[in-house]
Amino acid sequence: MAAAPTVPEIVLTSSTGQRKMAVMGLGTAPEATSKVTTKDAVLEAIKQGYRHFDAAAAYGVEQSVGEAIAEALKLGLISSRDELFVTSKLWVTDNHPHLILPALKKSLRTLQLEYLDLILIHWPITTKPGEVKYPIDVSDIVEFDLKGVWTSLEECQKLGLTKAIGASNFSIKKLEKLLSFATIPPAVNQVEVNLGWQQEKLRAFCKEKGIIVTAFSPLRKGASRGANLVMDNDILKELADTHGKTIAQICLRWLYEQGLTFVVKSYDKERMNQNLQIFDWSLTEDDYKKISEIHQDRLIKGPTKPLLDDLWDEE
Ligand code: NAP
Repeated sequence: MAAAPTVPEIVLTSSTGQRKMAVMGLGTAPEATSKVTTKDAVLEAIKQGYRHFDAAAAYGVEQSVGEAIAEALKLGLISSRDELFVTSKLWVTDNHPHLILPALKKSLRTLQLEYLDLILIHWPITTKPGEVKYPIDVSDIVEFDLKGVWTSLEECQKLGLTKAIGASNFSIKKLEKLLSFATIPPAVNQVEVNLGWQQEKLRAFCKEKGIIVTAFSPLRKGASRGANLVMDNDILKELADTHGKTIAQICLRWLYEQGLTFVVKSYDKERMNQNLQIFDWSLTEDDYKKISEIHQDRLIKGPTKPLLDDLWDEE
């Protein structure tokens, strides 16, 4: 296996202490077919040089991620928890002003951590409090008090329970609303970005406002979940052959060259290593011309059943 490079970092300007985040993180959204446990995968990733982990209350992985971090400290793979960047997300059942602090404290207990690096509003939707249901039943949806939720998140950052606060799956319209009252602007908007859903408008808006975009599903869910717009794309096959790289590496290199941060999920030792090998080569102008021809279509259309008409504000 090739030696692991050091992953470049980016500063979150609205974070406490100007926290740095490695541009590539490991996703931990569970896949029922995975033979490797989240604990083993996170531990292996730390061995390989990953320092940024993307979790969520709704994934049910916080305990395993926490156990892996505790084990990594015990084994001396890292000398302090501060070397890691840990993100978690609030589920829609907790998107109520009075439930933010208890939900964050619960995540911290489950993760065995004293602070998060980043907490995100997972989806711009609120449901009645209760158990995690996926997909979300639209009849459970109630009005989303974004201002109240954000004020509670700002309080959490001021209390030192998280270094930064942010959004996920927010459209430009929703970010504009958030920015209109935020005293601590969102450090991050985590959204789907991949070669099949390049999100140029949203990315330009975030850049102008100093919001870091983190791309999720950067491989459009990879090869293991069946054929897809990027992993089975003839244009990308050709680029991969020309560079002597894999399609996954072309996808991740493109995100890196766009100045994005991204969370890619692999629990496989070899693919985890492969995904790290993207920092010492580049795409050419000709590659970019070909990339611009890739058909665009959003993969993740929403977490509800049925889908909501106004979730993406027609952007
Ligand atoms: P992804 O990272 O694009 O793809 C993951 C899939 O690709 C897995 O099946 C993985 O299988 C496979 N894979 C990984 N590296 C590969 C490679 N080099 N070659 C071929 N296949 C490869 O998709 P994702 O899991 O949907 O997204 C990543 C993370 O983003 C999630 O885990 C989660 O943390 C976050 N996310 C957030 C949201 C949100 O609403 N905020 C939504 C979706 C995802 P192996 O494990 O077998 O390698």
